[in-house]
Amino acid sequence: MTRPRAQRPRLPETSGAQRRSHLAWNGGMKGQSRPPAEAATAARCTVDGCGSEATGPAPTAGMVPVTGAGDGAGAHWWCAGRCAVLARTRAELRAVPMRSDGGR
Ligand SMILES: [Zn+2]
Repeated sequence: MTRPRAQRPRLPETSGAQRRSHLAWNGGMKGQSRPPAEAATAARCTVDGCGSEATGPAPTAGMVPVTGAGDGAGAHWWCAGRCAVLARTRAELRAVPMRSDGGR
């Protein structure tokens, strides 16, 4: 039998002693943290019809339909290759059931 894990309470650091303790722990650093690192994001595809709803024939030859994750989700046309892989991956990730605490 396993006991459910208790969530550790998150207490704000409001007292002076807490702030001094925190500054002692992190070597006296305070103020703004550094900006997030420049991370390359996936460039948006500019092919006409890529990502459009697959209600008719493919807008461009070679496009493949990818079905979404939800119940009764429609399919969309994507370029074969990178765009289709990204769409399938997104659908697979969205198909992962949510936990009761809201995470996956
Ligand atoms: Zn595309």
